[in-house]
Amino acid sequence: MTPEPLQKSADAPEQVEGLASRTQVADAPTILIVEDDPRMVRVFAASLETEGYRVFNADSGERGIAEVRARNPDLVLLDLGLPGIDGLSVVPQIRAHSGVCIIVVSAREQEKDKVKALDAGANDYLTKPFSTLELLARIRVGLRSRARTRDAVERIVTFGDYRLDLQRRRLSRGDRLVRLSPTELALLVTLARHADEVVTTNTLLKESWGSGYRTRSGYVRVYMHVLRRKIENEPTRPEYLLTESGLGYRLRTSQD
Ligand code: CA
Repeated sequence: MTPEPLQKSADAPEQVEGLASRTQVADAPTILIVEDDPRMVRVFAASLETEGYRVFNADSGERGIAEVRARNPDLVLLDLGLPGIDGLSVVPQIRAHSGVCIIVVSAREQEKDKVKALDAGANDYLTKPFSTLELLARIRVGLRSRARTRDAVERIVTFGDYRLDLQRRRLSRGDRLVRLSPTELALLVTLARHADEVVTTNTLLKESWGSGYRTRSGYVRVYMHVLRRKIENEPTRPEYLLTESGLGYRLRTSQD
């Protein structure tokens, strides 16, 4: 990357030009980076363009919302610390008209905002500082789950040698049916609908039990414990049902 600042017009954010831009193909996934710090944008853009993604930048929340409408990107990397309208308020405004995958980027001191952003419809999060490998892995997962949502035909979610049929609500391992209670199944189905994404405790309660149970976060802990004992090879060191400390849980279906 050249050390000079990004070129950006005042009202129309431009594609970030990186060294790898010539390797991009027309149908490469597009990623919108909503971030006001040009150094961060350059770092993100360099890694993403090397992977062949098309990258755009919006340096404020307002521009980010406008860019999602204008360009219909495949994924939005949204910094929560923005001038003007903050990142947290951007999430519901994007969600109001777009199902695009949103990954929020937050600083350590924005833990509470992270939960709110996820509850408002963000799909995943990254906490600064994070590695390029972590960023790329989250983006691959995000793009995959968007593809999955798009062809809603996918009704089977697999992890390890498990196979969960969302339609028939059956979990099998190899040719053996795994017996789960309706509650355990409801929880697993919710996690599987958001496979590889972090699902907040609030969302788990609302989607598995209904909105009357929002304050019963203890339920989730108890049932996750039971589910792990039934599913994990080593329940204390889960491979699939991961805890996202202070946020919720994630069903891991891939090693990314
Ligand atoms: Ca920022």
